Amino acid sequence: MRLLLVLGDQLSPNLSVLQKGDKAQDVVVMAEVADEASYVPHHPKKIAFTFAAMRKFAQTLRDDGWTVAYTPLDDPHNSGSITGELIRRASEHNAAGVVYTEPGEWRLIAALGDMPLKTHCLPDTRFIASHQEFDDWAEGRKQLRMEYFYREMRRKTGLLMDGDQPEGGKWNYDHDNRKPAPDQVTYGGPMQFTPDDTTKEVLALVADRFGDNFGDLEPFWFATDTGQARQHLAHWIKGGLPNFGDFQDAMLDDNRFLYHAVVGLYINAGLLDPLEVCQKVAQAYRDGDAPLNAVEGFIRQIIGWREYVRGIYFREGPDYTARNALGHDRALPEMYWGGETRMNCMSKAIGQTRAEAYAHHIQRLMVTGNFALLAGIDPAQVHEWYLAVYADAYEWVEAPNVIGMSQFADDGIIASKPYISSGNYIHKMSDHCGACAYRVQDKTGDKACPFNLLYWHFLDRHRDRFEGNPRMGNMYRVWDRMDEDRRETVLSEADGFLKKLEAGEKV
Ligand SMILES: Cc1cc2nc3c(=O)[nH]c(=O)nc-3n(C[C@H](O)[C@H](O)[C@H](O)COP(=O)(O)OP(=O)(O)OC[C@H]3O[C@@H](n4cnc5c(N)ncnc54)[C@H](O)[C@@H]3O)c2cc1C
Ligand code: SF4
Repeated sequence: MRLLLVLGDQLSPNLSVLQKGDKAQDVVVMAEVADEASYVPHHPKKIAFTFAAMRKFAQTLRDDGWTVAYTPLDDPHNSGSITGELIRRASEHNAAGVVYTEPGEWRLIAALGDMPLKTHCLPDTRFIASHQEFDDWAEGRKQLRMEYFYREMRRKTGLLMDGDQPEGGKWNYDHDNRKPAPDQVTYGGPMQFTPDDTTKEVLALVADRFGDNFGDLEPFWFATDTGQARQHLAHWIKGGLPNFGDFQDAMLDDNRFLYHAVVGLYINAGLLDPLEVCQKVAQAYRDGDAPLNAVEGFIRQIIGWREYVRGIYFREGPDYTARNALGHDRALPEMYWGGETRMNCMSKAIGQTRAEAYAHHIQRLMVTGNFALLAGIDPAQVHEWYLAVYADAYEWVEAPNVIGMSQFADDGIIASKPYISSGNYIHKMSDHCGACAYRVQDKTGDKACPFNLLYWHFLDRHRDRFEGNPRMGNMYRVWDRMDEDRRETVLSEADGFLKKLEAGEKV
């Protein structure tokens, strides 16, 4: 017999290791271990979601005839690590070896490869592109533009294709998707589930062990099995999808989800299959229930961005998370862990992250990410924060988004220019500025929006690197046209702000 490892983000019946396993003699190993639960201070909701979904998945495997050796976190024999549990189970069952599906993190790939047991690693076939396909596409290209990769994935899956042409004649309808915040949101947000007995048990365990981590454990409402996740998906397709495209980039003080799908955590854990999700969304378009800009925009996120960032993570190798092309080294400010701030946009994005283990893409990219980049925060600390606080965060998807897209620490592999903006962008896309202690119109002075000051500070300090970037020339021309006194004031006020930030003062 062999041991078949199933990790906490591999909760899919079509997982390669289960497909290749033999129910009659192999033993499935699943374990809640301290190492995985604490290598970054994960949000308590994220830990509870993972353990509850694992326990319920183990039960469906048993119901399906598998033998499952499951180690709960509080089992007195729990060795505390995945490899420790495999070694313990191997001697308990006299196993000939371990078979596993490739994990989504270099750290674990290395640990499993180094085990003193016979091992066999299978590819993770739940993705649309294999490593080989991505590498074949990337080979010889000067720039790895997501848009071209995405077209390949459209052709491969046949999603929104009309023969060999894109549905509606265009590959990308992003142009229609940048509307500012709406006055009224007609969708009530993600479907919420009352915790069942298994989930309640896990909630008690997590409250006891991880209650001090950043993040509210309760109210806990996530789906914890495939049936519930599918119910939520159907609810969103009906109520949220039709407006998803239009308001994808908008932010509101009093609405945490707008029209977002909140499916990343379910897809990444394996409860929902990405292709099945996209097929259901494409069907809504064919049925006339959602417009093309919404449906195309959503499908692009999944078969385009999601697959593309995975390709980059595996292509770039284990040192990717340590990259720091801009040499940023400031410590992550306390406000990210709940410390007080006068910046309303930051307070809202971080506050809802604490409450829900969720923020949508533009909050992550243009508020918390933008601020960290402008303020010159050490990207490794930024990476650790994002990995800890979001329920959908696993390194293969989080790191390229943070190190690459958001912090430009990979020197432009993912982003052709840094995603930076002054307060103007946030003002245009949200209602945050109205209730802020700072004034978004002010470029200098006591109440000047910090994003305004830091924006120019960033451009000025990285002039050598970015001045020649064709997409950034305009920004430098605007800066150069400002009179010199004003430029000096901006820079010295920005320096003053950064000093306060470093001193831990409330900013
Ligand atoms: C700084 C930063 C960190 C991020 N960290 C993560 C992370 O840890 N895990 C994660 O899954 N996504 C991450 N993203 C991508 C994206 O923000 C989330 O996938 C999305 O906000 C999840 O919410 P949703 O399910 O409501 O997504 P929706 O906005 O409804 O989008 C639908 C789905 O598309 C996929 N998707 C969209 N954008 C991306 C992207 N850039 N990369 C990969 N998949 C994408 C996700 O599966 C998502 O569920 C990050 C983005 C940024 C800018
Ligand atoms: S004024 Fe500046 S800091 Fe305040 S909410 Fe607007 S963008 Fe954020």
